[in-house]
Amino acid sequence: MKTILIDLDHTLIDTAAFKRHRMAILRRFGVSRRQFEEAHRNIIRGMAVFHPDAFLDYVFPDPKIRRKVLGEYQKLFGRKKGYNYPGARAFVQKLARKHRLILLSYGHKQFQLRKFIQAGFGRFFKYVLITGNLHKKEDLAAFRKKYGPHLIMLDDSPHVIAAARALGVKAVKIKKGKKNTAYYAALARRIERLSER
Ligand SMILES: [Mg+2]
Repeated sequence: MKTILIDLDHTLIDTAAFKRHRMAILRRFGVSRRQFEEAHRNIIRGMAVFHPDAFLDYVFPDPKIRRKVLGEYQKLFGRKKGYNYPGARAFVQKLARKHRLILLSYGHKQFQLRKFIQAGFGRFFKYVLITGNLHKKEDLAAFRKKYGPHLIMLDDSPHVIAAARALGVKAVKIKKGKKNTAYYAALARRIERLSER
C-alpha cells in the first residue's frame, strides 16, 4: 500500500469552469473582466490565500448587492459534483481500494473544503489537508519524513511536482485543462505500475 497525496484544483475538479461561472455572475452585476482581474490582484496582494467571499467585500461595498451575489454563488455550490471531471470519481474510488489517499490542496480552508464537499470524494480520502504553502514544500517534506519511499504525489502544478521530486517523492504531473474517463483510466494504470516499484 502506498500513500498518495492528491491535489484538488485542476486535478480532480474543473476549477477553471467554476471560476468562469463566478465571473459570469459578477458580469451580470456590472463587474468587468478588467475590474475582476484588478480586484483579484489587489485581494491577492493583501491576503495569504484567495477566498471569493472576501473578494465580494472588496468589489461590492453595498451589503444588499453582496447578499444577492452570494445567493448566486450558493447556486454554483449547489451543483453537486457539477465540477468533477468525468472519470475523476471512479479514479479516486479505484485508488482508494489499495492505497491511502490524502487530499493536499492549497488555498483558503473554508473555500477548498466547500469545493471538496461539493465534489463528493470525501469517503475515498483518509484525510484532508488544506495548506497555505503555495508549492506545498513544507507539507511534502513532512509527509516524506512520515512515509519515506511509499509516497506518491499527483498535482497539475509544475512547481509542486518539482518540489516533490527535489525531496525524492515520486510525482505524477496531471495534465492541464479538460480531462475525461480515458485519461483517468490511463492515469490509474500508470500509478499502479509506479506503486509496484
Ligand atoms: Mg491544482
